[in-house]
Amino acid sequence: MTGRTIRVSDVLGPVTALGPGRRLGVWVQGCPLACPGCMSRHTWDPRGGREVEVERLAEAWRRALADGYDGLTVSGGEPLEQPAALADLLAAADRERRAAGRTDADLLVYTGREDDEIAGSPRARAALDLADAVITGRYRAGEPTRLVWRGSANQRLVPRTPLGRLRYEPHLRREADRPELQVRVTDTEVRVIGVPRPGELGSLERELASRGVTFRENTWRP
Ligand code: SF4
Repeated sequence: MTGRTIRVSDVLGPVTALGPGRRLGVWVQGCPLACPGCMSRHTWDPRGGREVEVERLAEAWRRALADGYDGLTVSGGEPLEQPAALADLLAAADRERRAAGRTDADLLVYTGREDDEIAGSPRARAALDLADAVITGRYRAGEPTRLVWRGSANQRLVPRTPLGRLRYEPHLRREADRPELQVRVTDTEVRVIGVPRPGELGSLERELASRGVTFRENTWRP
């Protein structure tokens, strides 16, 4: 490998449940925050996932832009556990959208860090410099919410740039009127994308069981 790398759990598109429109989703690997009820326990191990060059992700983003995608969502895992790589990824994504004449395509980052933790960390602030919007705060299973794109009521959607304000301010208090999960089923895996409401994953498991799908491992339960 030559350039900066970032350890990721997954890269998928189009994602429609984590931000507005059709998006490229990058799930960063590694999270030390261990929120009880986290549905992404497979992203916790910092040695898990795979290491990819930021340039490879920039190429995927370039193709996504050419395909008319509306934005990039970086989630996790905890993206701020790899602040330099995150900064590089956002810089590459910004460069590509400018080169493609697609400065309408936004960059959204999810982090479990709280606003004051970010404010107190120069590395975190620098890493998020090019994010148009961030969704901040630990997931708290006891504080369910219908607010779009947020997993619990404490999490804050924070627009950070003129594009971020244009695109996200209409959604700051918007509640979803229906579940916004994406479910991808392959021969070996059921992949749930989005922020489930209480009980939705149990309903999904029952629905899949009724179709003969059984789980050997499950990332949304300890
Ligand atoms: S909800 Fe997010 S911040 Fe919390 S443990 Fe899971 S991946 Fe980490």
